[in-house]
Amino acid sequence: MLGTLLSTPASVDAAQTFTGKLFVLDPGHGTKYPDGSPNNVGAVGPSGVLENAVTLAVGEKLGALLRAAGARVVLTRSYAHPYRTATEKRIDNRARAALANRLNATAFVAIHADASTDRSVRGTSVFWLRDNSVALANAVRARLAPLGLGESAFHARDLAVTSEARIPAVLVEIGYISNPDQERALATPTFQEREARALFDALMDTFATR
Ligand SMILES: [Zn+2]
Repeated sequence: MLGTLLSTPASVDAAQTFTGKLFVLDPGHGTKYPDGSPNNVGAVGPSGVLENAVTLAVGEKLGALLRAAGARVVLTRSYAHPYRTATEKRIDNRARAALANRLNATAFVAIHADASTDRSVRGTSVFWLRDNSVALANAVRARLAPLGLGESAFHARDLAVTSEARIPAVLVEIGYISNPDQERALATPTFQEREARALFDALMDTFATR
């Protein structure tokens, strides 16, 4: 009984961890041309799992965790609005990061799944560009490691989103959708939840008010 009473203030604190913070989450791909035809679909796994669906699911799950911790969350795509309209992928990718700049977000997280013609290739990757993103990149790397997916790359890279972003920004590849084992994991809701939790913990490590 006493334990129950003592746990109440702690959970209230947890709910306020990210109060006043805003995160822009960017589930990769999922654009259509103005005429409605597919533009930027993203990678497709050997069993037909779509990168743009996996990234959306992980983005939504991460968003729910952040909101529960008191943050405001803006998703560049959501279950309510799963598609963006664009003719140029690179311009659209820059626009996603530019939104985070405009909102003066605490951080921007672009979520992707990797692909290779070699189906044995596996692992996660984290990319960033500016010094203000290094702490978040390191935290994401550390939090993804326990998922056992392996690591493919971890270094600064000049990508459309990392170049455009002025606020702390990372692009994370949450596994290889072209690898049958990792495709299966990425399509599984419980594993998507673990991916989202790892990204949430990395944001906690980097930005939580203590
Ligand atoms: Zn991608």
